[in-house]
Amino acid sequence: MVHELSHYVGGQRVDGTSGRFSDVFDPCTGQVQARLPLASKEEVANAVANAEKGQLEWAAMNPQRRGRILLRFVDLVNENMDELATLLSSEHGKTLPDAKGDIQRGIEVVEFAANAPHLLKGEFSDSAGQGIDVHSLRQPLGVVAGITPFNFPAMIPLWKSGPALAAGNAFILKPSERDPSVPLRLAELYSEAGLPDGVFNVVNGDKEAVDALLEDPRVKAIGFVGSTPIAQYIYATAAAHGKRAQCFGGAKNHMVIMPDADLEMAADALIGAGYGSAGERCMAISVAVPVGQETADALVAKLTERVKGLRVGHSLDKDSDFGPVVASSAKERIEGYIQSGVDEGATLVADGRGLTVDGYDGGFWVGPTLFDNVTKDMKIYKEEIFGPVLSVLRAADYDEALRLCSEHEFGNGVAIFTRDGDAARDFASRVEVGMVGINVPIPVPIAYYTFGGWKASGFGDLNQHGADAFRFYTKTKTVTTRWSSGIRQGASFVMPAGS
Ligand code: NAD
Repeated sequence: MVHELSHYVGGQRVDGTSGRFSDVFDPCTGQVQARLPLASKEEVANAVANAEKGQLEWAAMNPQRRGRILLRFVDLVNENMDELATLLSSEHGKTLPDAKGDIQRGIEVVEFAANAPHLLKGEFSDSAGQGIDVHSLRQPLGVVAGITPFNFPAMIPLWKSGPALAAGNAFILKPSERDPSVPLRLAELYSEAGLPDGVFNVVNGDKEAVDALLEDPRVKAIGFVGSTPIAQYIYATAAAHGKRAQCFGGAKNHMVIMPDADLEMAADALIGAGYGSAGERCMAISVAVPVGQETADALVAKLTERVKGLRVGHSLDKDSDFGPVVASSAKERIEGYIQSGVDEGATLVADGRGLTVDGYDGGFWVGPTLFDNVTKDMKIYKEEIFGPVLSVLRAADYDEALRLCSEHEFGNGVAIFTRDGDAARDFASRVEVGMVGINVPIPVPIAYYTFGGWKASGFGDLNQHGADAFRFYTKTKTVTTRWSSGIRQGASFVMPAGS
């Protein structure tokens, strides 16, 4: 049965009125499971009006109380973990344990954000001049919006909303049209935790809703995560409308394998980081760079053996290593890239095209694909594929490997596997990439550090979560104070007497 989804505005689910819908699929069967209303400009304006109203009450609450509500929300998410993860898997296609990880990495940021009283403290200088003190305040922006991608439907909305709410803002989320049900459930749980009505809203939609948010002067900041062309569009349009923006884009993450690396460990890491979640992670490793022919031959042999053992299946089947990709268009795009790799002369070691899964003929399946002898000029190296496709590009030496990582258009994540501290240290210091793993394939920083890529992977000067998030979601006011001499001098301290 195809059910109809809604928006979430003013503390309740609200039906769409635009008459426009998009289909939400079950990627394991290829069937439509829900219809999603796409918001009109007017519906977005109504959500903003609700948010403006809610924000006043929310900002007036002291930050410690706001933090307690966020911690209640975290408890509720944990209590509903199984239901949320199942819902997430059913629309995204990632396995259940992976869906739980998506939610877990999200609530860790909300837990961090509950420390708002500390994170919102300003600065103070005593006696900056004679009789003059200076202090600064961090004040909420007002109404802010988040536009998020399909691949982490819990984590990224929580990375954005946790700090924004903790800082006293109201939040409007425009989640991906592909998997909107978890964001809607999170909205209900925020309300259940005690968030005042209108402080967290979900407007479902496409470009029309996004443009309405970008153009509305009441929306003060835009946080975006998604593909690079849209990140650039949103960054430029937000700036043109006088808003602050942080926009994170696509990726092409390399992993350098030095000749002294533990190759068993490196091969296992590559399998998990390359094929987990069907490669639909912005921190997935999509390029392995073994250093030296011997390392490369040994690594490719180990990868080939492991790829053969991978199980692709239904996202709720506990034996599945990964599930389907999110959409039939994604399957077509990925298969197109595989063909282009073949056409451009890469060695196709494992071909994931044409995979079928018993009982799920219509599912969006792509099997694990491995290319060897990929070169710098090939499309499969230059562009983000965002699927279960791992390319091996052989480097002659360390300098070539470092150059490849640094010169790529994208600069989200990178890893080096080695036993040599000096190589690791030099790599971390010199590589032109925002997040680095040393013997760690997917170096997603913990909640109290910040997350952000460089070059075409990130636009804006502040990262997500950590202390940066509080800088992004607050404006600084600086107060300079002078008190001229008053009651202390020349005033009488004698009790006035009548006669
Ligand atoms: P996407 O760019 O297609 O969509 C992201 C959001 O933008 C969605 O909410 C979508 O509705 C909206 N959108 C799409 N087209 C638009 C348009 N023309 N105008 C206005 N809004 C539009 O991305 P996706 O396919 O959902 O997600 C995958 C991409 O996200 C990959 O490129 C991946 O690398 C990237 N990603 C990056 C990070 C990071 O932190 N750098 C994290 C996760 C995902």
